[in-house]
Amino acid sequence: MILGKHIFYTMKIPLYIYNTITKKKEKFIPLNPPHVGLYVCGPTVYGDAHLGHARAAITFDLLYRYLKHLEYKVRYVRNITDVGHLESDADEGEDKILKKARLEKLEPMELVQYYSNSYHQNMRQLNVLDPSIEPLASGHIIEQQQFVDKILNSGFAYEVNGSVYFDVKKYNEKYKYGVLSGRIIEDLISSTRELEGQDEKKNSYDFALWKKATSEHLMRWPSKWSEGFPGWHLECSTMSTKYLGEEFDIHGGGMDLLFPHHECEIAQSTAANGKSSVKYWMHNNMITIKGQKMGKSLGNAVTLDEFFSGSHPLIEKPFSPMTIRFFMLQAHYRSTLDFSNEALQSAEKGLERLFRGIDSIEKITPNNKSTVDIDKLEANCYQSINDDLNSPVLISHLFDGLKISNSLVDGKGAISSNDLNRLKQIYRVFVLDILGLKKEKQKTLQEGLTTELVNILLNIRQKAKQEKDFETSDHIRKTLTDLGIEIKDKKDGVEWEIISKDKLKSKE
Ligand SMILES: [Zn+2]
Repeated sequence: MILGKHIFYTMKIPLYIYNTITKKKEKFIPLNPPHVGLYVCGPTVYGDAHLGHARAAITFDLLYRYLKHLEYKVRYVRNITDVGHLESDADEGEDKILKKARLEKLEPMELVQYYSNSYHQNMRQLNVLDPSIEPLASGHIIEQQQFVDKILNSGFAYEVNGSVYFDVKKYNEKYKYGVLSGRIIEDLISSTRELEGQDEKKNSYDFALWKKATSEHLMRWPSKWSEGFPGWHLECSTMSTKYLGEEFDIHGGGMDLLFPHHECEIAQSTAANGKSSVKYWMHNNMITIKGQKMGKSLGNAVTLDEFFSGSHPLIEKPFSPMTIRFFMLQAHYRSTLDFSNEALQSAEKGLERLFRGIDSIEKITPNNKSTVDIDKLEANCYQSINDDLNSPVLISHLFDGLKISNSLVDGKGAISSNDLNRLKQIYRVFVLDILGLKKEKQKTLQEGLTTELVNILLNIRQKAKQEKDFETSDHIRKTLTDLGIEIKDKKDGVEWEIISKDKLKSKE
């Protein structure tokens, strides 16, 4: 019998992952090897995907790819939130999807489909593998109602006026609330405001499991409590239990979801099943842009499409999906990551250097003996990825390996054909399979030139506008429009897009 790789490496250099709940790096031991259950909170589909979405997806794609490399049988569940995510964490405000659908005059499910499609396209561009199951909250209303029933039956929820709320105080008396975030209930009392319209909750920190729909709320389902909709936290507890069981290995998500979302998930699952369901909690850190938090109100929420096309005013040139992926992998997932044009340009160069180096391995002619240490290179690569997915250290080892191969290309030293095959294998496995990087078609000179020329013209137009030379600014706009380039003036700058001339004409 051939030992599976996971057994071999688990014995030799085991995988350690940082568990947010114990705040320690722990040896990864699955509950039912070789099976691994992985649940990651997916997007609420009401807008274009941005860097935050990319970072969570790439972090857990790296984990998924590595676990598969170790020959675990991974069931990866990543949900799509299409109902119940309200604007405020305090169960207040409009449903994010309903609000956007109202503004865009679309049927809510039309909006959900549109943004799910664009999310999937972006993920494919970033070479993020599809999860094994991608359940929708709206497709699991009955299961969510059954989950509410379980919590009601165990006595940790109460019904008021057709809505059902989780009783945090009562839960805290039996189990401890705040085990993940470290927040204690006394802090919550002082930090949660008593909001108007929340009178029906026993305590302001209780959260909704089922909400009775107001008359204008379109997404609603019948239930024994009221015609309404599920609370946002509920879908993840319900769908992870349905597809991965009452206990599963890894739950992941962005750090911004740690509280209240994941804390509430723990409380719900524990209340319903009598035990906490997740063995390892993993959280990726946040993205900043030029040192600032990313946010729509700050005008720096650059979408992935805008990065790829270079059409956002903050972005000096287009950056390819692989540049974005490589840039993210050059930082450890638990560190914050700051985006700037300079940092992206150096990632772009680094990625080119990596693939140039890999190409040059093909030029090496083998000898009958080796003067280079391939064992050490391989061990270093495994050691870094096994150290809580330390991709930046892994990448630095891969560059060190290229120094060896470059000197072999230059005729310094020797390598046996067996070692040469192993060297090629290391780059294939770590770069393509595990880091998920791939060679991109070089942008044609023309495409790159178009972007730069349009940006130059827009800068001249901007200057003309500032100097109140509207004749020039209008002339530039008209000339570009005639060429099929649509210009959109935004608060913080100008966006542009190449569209067909016919489509532009019909808009006029
Ligand atoms: Zn979730």
